[in-house]
Amino acid sequence: MSSPIPAHLASAPAPLVAVVGGGPAGLLAAQRLAEAGYRVRVFEQKATVGRKFLVAGHGGFNLTNGEDAAAFAGRYGAAGALFQGVLAHFSPADLRQWAAGLGIATFVGSSGRVFPEAQHTPADLLRAWLRRLAELGVELHTRHRWLGFAGETGLHFSDEKTGQEFTLAPAATVLALGGASWPQTGSDGHWTPLLAAIGVPSQPWLPANCGAEVAWSAFFKDKVGRAPLKNIALSCGDHTVRGEVMLTDYGLEGTPVYALTPQVRAALAAGGPATFSLNLKPDLAPAEVAQRLARRRPGTSLPAFLASAFHLKPPVPTLLRELAGPAADLTGSLTALPIPVKGLRPLAEAISSAGGVPFSEVDEHLMLRRRPGTFVAGEMLDWEAPTGGYLLQGCFSTGAWAAGGVARLLAG
Ligand SMILES: Cc1cc2nc3c(=O)[nH]c(=O)nc-3n(C[C@H](O)[C@H](O)[C@H](O)COP(=O)(O)OP(=O)(O)OC[C@H]3O[C@@H](n4cnc5c(N)ncnc54)[C@H](O)[C@@H]3O)c2cc1C
Repeated sequence: MSSPIPAHLASAPAPLVAVVGGGPAGLLAAQRLAEAGYRVRVFEQKATVGRKFLVAGHGGFNLTNGEDAAAFAGRYGAAGALFQGVLAHFSPADLRQWAAGLGIATFVGSSGRVFPEAQHTPADLLRAWLRRLAELGVELHTRHRWLGFAGETGLHFSDEKTGQEFTLAPAATVLALGGASWPQTGSDGHWTPLLAAIGVPSQPWLPANCGAEVAWSAFFKDKVGRAPLKNIALSCGDHTVRGEVMLTDYGLEGTPVYALTPQVRAALAAGGPATFSLNLKPDLAPAEVAQRLARRRPGTSLPAFLASAFHLKPPVPTLLRELAGPAADLTGSLTALPIPVKGLRPLAEAISSAGGVPFSEVDEHLMLRRRPGTFVAGEMLDWEAPTGGYLLQGCFSTGAWAAGGVARLLAG
């Protein structure tokens, strides 16, 4: 993947590129630029880099996804057209090859998600990556907070170890400051005023890929607590996602819930109620469900009948009673159970965020239109995508793309 050192760098001292933000987007940009022969300095406000990357490793660590290119780009919604080119430049296959180059083999799971082989932890990957960056001569400056722009090309920093402030004037800059969820990882979104100071507005931060709140009764919370519902289909509006959801004391979480956050957000923002429709038997046609229900013998309890006819076990009977009441139309309740959503979980808890720098503020190389020489990558751009490896791939690919934009600019 590394490209030959360009002629303009072969003899002259290499221009300095500053990368601000030590997440996956920034570190990949740094690697690509160092491989292309530039001097690279990475500035990170936290004591260590890659904190959100490591958090991503706590559950299933999906580095990317094995989905085909057209469907993959479609995961980025309104930004899909731009992502087509960005993903072609650093594709899911490139990401797997990059990980393999660091000694981390990956495999495609049954869901299409790409994971590191079991013997490799996310920390192993990050350690190997940092070793590679050190070999390439990338300088890491942790506990260095970017405070804003200074003059035409300068960046103002504070060294949090010494309390001293200084200005650096790199030949180009990649900003990869992250979104605004999980602020304890450094992804705090506090940088928006720094861009606003040069006239770059940001879209407001909103939670993406997060749980949904449901006003369960005290009885339900007490009886059900936390329980999975497997092999279901969840819909909001005309979007349906298959998978497994988890009932929790606050509402619902799990991949289908996360994937439907944009629809829930839109419904709530429009002032209307947001409602999920839950299909507990998505592989059965409603007519088949009705036929099986018709076979229920008088006197058979609902839990016993649901278990024998549909393999639906607790907490399903309690869920039906909670949301549909005892006299419900059971076909409708099993195939399209309405679940009123009263809100989304707070931004700080969300897996990712929507909002940030709009694409209208950057050119096709992700360079700020208002500040030539400054590029933007990763979650700080206003895109969102579902879980399943699309988030990290989006960060890696925009990091690589921005690095390509820097190299193109500096090569004249
Ligand atoms: C619980 C959880 C699970 C996840 N699981 C997955 C998964 O399995 N698969 C997947 O694809 N994605 C997953 N993600 C999402 C993924 O971790 C993020 O999309 C990714 O880390 C974003 O990368 P980034 O480089 O854009 O930003 P970040 O990783 O947020 O990095 C930005 C960096 O910029 C630094 N910074 C910010 N402001 C300043 C400043 N002023 N000065 C200096 N430095 C600054 C921050 O400290 C931070 O280190 C998960 C996220 C969470 C929270």
